[in-house]
Amino acid sequence: MSQTLFEKIIAREIPADIVYEDDLVIAFRDINPQAPTHVLVIPKKVIPRIALSDDSDQSLLGHLLLKARAIAADLGLAENGYRLVINNGRDGGESVPHLHCHILGGRPLEWPPG
Ligand code: AMP
Repeated sequence: MSQTLFEKIIAREIPADIVYEDDLVIAFRDINPQAPTHVLVIPKKVIPRIALSDDSDQSLLGHLLLKARAIAADLGLAENGYRLVINNGRDGGESVPHLHCHILGGRPLEWPPG
């Protein structure tokens, strides 16, 4: 199966502005930011979308969320707040089939989303 864009970022085959990495996840700045701070946190394990995760991913998904929290704090977003977003499938607006959690912050965000 061909590699997704994000697998190529994990493998350093295409460049990215990486802000955090450990054995399980990597985080990098979104190439088309929708807020002053827009970072994607992704598992290194290939899970195409949250709908295709399973119970064996419990600790990995917990790690992903806790790292999103820590990265948001490191980027100075904790005080004013931020939004974590996971788009799933066509109606969810998913465009890259590798699970990723958006961290968006640095401006007030509207609700509901478009
Ligand atoms: P989604 O629409 O939820 O699947 O989000 C995919 C995100 O990946 C979008 O916000 C894109 O701007 C972002 N993106 C696409 N290519 C790259 C890249 N090479 N480096 C960083 N972010 C990217």
